Amino acid sequence: MSKSVLVIVAHADDMEFMAGGTIAKMAGLGYSIREVIATNNEKGTLEPHWSEQFTADARREEARRGAKVLGVEQQIEFLGYEDGRLSETPLNELRERCMRAIRRHRPDVLFTWDPHAPYEEHQDHRAVGWAAAEASMFSHFPLYHPEHRGDGLAPHYVGERYFFAKSPRDVNKAVDIGDYIAVKIEALCEHVCQMEMTVADLKVQLAGSGLSVPFLADADPKEFRPVIEAQIKAWAGAVGRRHGFEYAEEFRRVRFGEMERWARRSGEELVDEV
Ligand SMILES: [Zn+2]
Repeated sequence: MSKSVLVIVAHADDMEFMAGGTIAKMAGLGYSIREVIATNNEKGTLEPHWSEQFTADARREEARRGAKVLGVEQQIEFLGYEDGRLSETPLNELRERCMRAIRRHRPDVLFTWDPHAPYEEHQDHRAVGWAAAEASMFSHFPLYHPEHRGDGLAPHYVGERYFFAKSPRDVNKAVDIGDYIAVKIEALCEHVCQMEMTVADLKVQLAGSGLSVPFLADADPKEFRPVIEAQIKAWAGAVGRRHGFEYAEEFRRVRFGEMERWARRSGEELVDEV
């Protein structure tokens, strides 16, 4: 069955980093994928001469290119919040924006940051995770934001939610991305500012550590691809080994509210397409 997927994230590259292989796999199955990005990403560069506006424009374009590589054909919706300060936005305001997006795009499956995951130091990830999780919990309740009806947006139930995290907790779904690891890396490499920054940041960490890693010491942030490829393959490979795949992405998945447990108790197994 062709499903509709909505990804709600904080930054231009979150989807590619955390779920790029899975999204590419779903796009390959014919699922329609849409993405909502909460911030303008205007702090995402180490180039001292770039203005915030220039950075935001560059990263918006990179988000479009990265999503396209994964098979996201629809236009990305940008909510326009300031980068790095999303926790200053009231939860209920952000939740309303997420609920509006859910009621507009009417997804079967939602992907977002796991608000319950430990060790998440980025407030934008925490904030968007809480707002999107709560919005998807209540988007079928008609008295939550009844004003949406006036805009033609009816209540909508989100059946499946895939939560991702840098240190995930209660993982219950691993997706084999062996056939999509190259696409994930390709999509990430479209995020030039962020990938240059990632390599530059690794070099800062290396210098600060006093350790010797010649591969990184010799790496040029402008030539980021070999480092990104090694980093992503090491990460997805470690996740894969835990689940019996060469490369994998993992999630805390919540399906159909209580219904997955109910179905199991009455002997029905829910079939996975991915
Ligand atoms: Zn992020």
